[in-house]
Amino acid sequence: MFQQNKTSKVVTLALAGFGLTMGLAACQPKAEEKTEEKAKEHQSAEATASAPSTDAPVTIYSSRKEQLIQPLLDKYMEETGAKVELVTDKPGPLMERLKAEGKNTEADILLTVDAGNLWKATNDGLLQPIISEVIEANVPAKFRDPQGNWTGLSLRARTIFYNPKTVKPEELSTYADLADPKWKGKLCLRTSKKVYNQSLVASMIDHLGAEKTEKVVKGWVANLATDVFSNDTKMLEAIAAGQCGVGIANSYYYGRKVAKEPEFPVKIFFANQNTTGTHTNVSGAGVVKNSDNVAGAQHLIEWLSSDKAQSIYASADKEYPVKEDVEVSELLASWGDFKTDDINVAKFGELQADSIKLMDKAGYK
Ligand code: FE
Repeated sequence: MFQQNKTSKVVTLALAGFGLTMGLAACQPKAEEKTEEKAKEHQSAEATASAPSTDAPVTIYSSRKEQLIQPLLDKYMEETGAKVELVTDKPGPLMERLKAEGKNTEADILLTVDAGNLWKATNDGLLQPIISEVIEANVPAKFRDPQGNWTGLSLRARTIFYNPKTVKPEELSTYADLADPKWKGKLCLRTSKKVYNQSLVASMIDHLGAEKTEKVVKGWVANLATDVFSNDTKMLEAIAAGQCGVGIANSYYYGRKVAKEPEFPVKIFFANQNTTGTHTNVSGAGVVKNSDNVAGAQHLIEWLSSDKAQSIYASADKEYPVKEDVEVSELLASWGDFKTDDINVAKFGELQADSIKLMDKAGYK
């Protein structure tokens, strides 16, 4: 397992009044049940997750591909008897749809990638806070919203990749170091328009301050081997082809390449191991503000954070589980342990506007 820097538990107590009603309601047995059954139900609710309190279906608006999430949902339906409906689209259109549908939405859960997107959904008033002991126990505080509007469900490292023919790992250290003139003409980057880079630069603003981060981003731009790429996979292929020596990408894009092509001539390097830790982002979910099945939605999200769901969900797309004691796939284990950044991922959203402005100013297209 890779290490996650332990952070002190982010306080959700302030909101306890909010969530308590829901948490308790889920534990409340039906009137006709016998006392021992009540006790049993309550006990299992504490140990695992509360049972859905309604027969209504749970509708998920998901920006994750159907083939990735459907097998897991099938398992959930089989296990619980609950009904789950899946609507898939890109994050932007899904959020627009939620906004347009308002109170009439069928959606109960928004499932998407990047804390920047989840933060934006919260900021647009599309989600509602849930207080869940299950999620608090399963998901480290730094990988979920401190206000409880969403939680991470899988992890991806956005880190450095290199061509071992032209670059030695000893030459690599931090994201900021890629601004050093020694990388002139060797660096490849994806476009700054992608939320993944907005989140990465947001984390750097938090760690280094805006001034220093702007210098770094200017340095990156000065070091570019070629125009920015439209996606991480093309950039990784350019490293493999020798067009660039180093670049920054999400770990699962590399995982997909290596799974198909074990000899893919690119290596992974976990950035900032001697400083702040590697930038690690989430895919995650939150309960929709206008959901008419909050209990069902919460139960499904809790289930997705459980051990068995975690290993399936994470390995389905070469990601890391968000739950600490769940084993990673063999492929990911072969990349070794790494220290993740301690920053709360919600910061990526809070600093998103600053990050976009800064990259624009620095000439990062
Ligand atoms: Fe992606």
